[in-house]
Amino acid sequence: MADDILYSVRNLTVDYKTRGGIVHAVDNVSLDIRRGEILGLVGESGCGKSTFGKALMRLHDGPASIPNGELWFDGQDLMKVPMKDMPAIRGADIGMVFQDPMTSLNPVQSIMEHLTETIQTHEPKVSDAAAHARAEDLVERLGIRHERLKEYPHQMSGGMRQRVMISLALALRAKLVIADEPTTSLDVIVEAKFLDLLKELQEEFNLTILLITHNIGVVAEVCDRVAVMYAAKMVEVGSVEAVFADPKHPYTQGLLRSVPNIKLDEGDLYKMGGEPPSLLHPPTGCRFHPRCPKAMDICSREEPAFESVAGEQLASCWLYQKADGKQKVTNG
Ligand code: SF4
Repeated sequence: MADDILYSVRNLTVDYKTRGGIVHAVDNVSLDIRRGEILGLVGESGCGKSTFGKALMRLHDGPASIPNGELWFDGQDLMKVPMKDMPAIRGADIGMVFQDPMTSLNPVQSIMEHLTETIQTHEPKVSDAAAHARAEDLVERLGIRHERLKEYPHQMSGGMRQRVMISLALALRAKLVIADEPTTSLDVIVEAKFLDLLKELQEEFNLTILLITHNIGVVAEVCDRVAVMYAAKMVEVGSVEAVFADPKHPYTQGLLRSVPNIKLDEGDLYKMGGEPPSLLHPPTGCRFHPRCPKAMDICSREEPAFESVAGEQLASCWLYQKADGKQKVTNG
């Protein structure tokens, strides 16, 4: 694994057992997360992006399982770590920020108690006084007066609770923070402040952040690279600059064209036709072919490889490949 890669996911599949059969919610997906970057993971609701994020911490629950895949985090394959040892890695090495922090914070514990307990669980030798000082310092840096640490989660606004979640990750000096739709429940102004804060923290602490979102505008604002998922598959990955300037996969092209743009009249807004497929019975070949305006004969028969289409920009699309595995010389 190259030194600049913090997390390398290889051929990850996550299955759900349903009454109708097995659903591959994530289907043979590979992705590298580089140290110190903010990587945006986008796609429509139900495409598997949240399942992917949880699987990175082996947080799949209930009827879900990981039948295959390698999860190389900082040189260690987490798939080989006994499940009983995973809680120590979650939090200490990999922090999480979810859409609704109320589900992650204990309602009967003050924020100070929560932060102190979390720090001391992972670092038992830290005294109460040292844990309090660390908690106070962190929340102040995140724009929350330390006096508010004695409050309970319900006494804080949604934006503040999100900052508390970030402070938990920072308190443990996590190397990777996975933020799943962290701004969805925030209003536009609080969202903008939160995104600024993420960017600042990434620079100051050299944090690596996986930002899972359905909002492509958020990706444009803060991310270094973007990964696009469709129907449980990864379809395009590249720098935000390259992908936004020249998206290769027709799904990414449609996604970008459907973002409201102040230069366009409302009537010009593109609406992608069709619906994402059922993952119980996904289409053969390229899963996007029933909706793709550029679909060709081969697209419904064979699945294209996920490979470089322009330098570090990867995509899975027959527009750039030949059936014999050779690359086409085309701009799509
Ligand atoms: Fe469209 Fe074919 Fe490319 Fe799929 S492989 S995105 S159907 S052109």
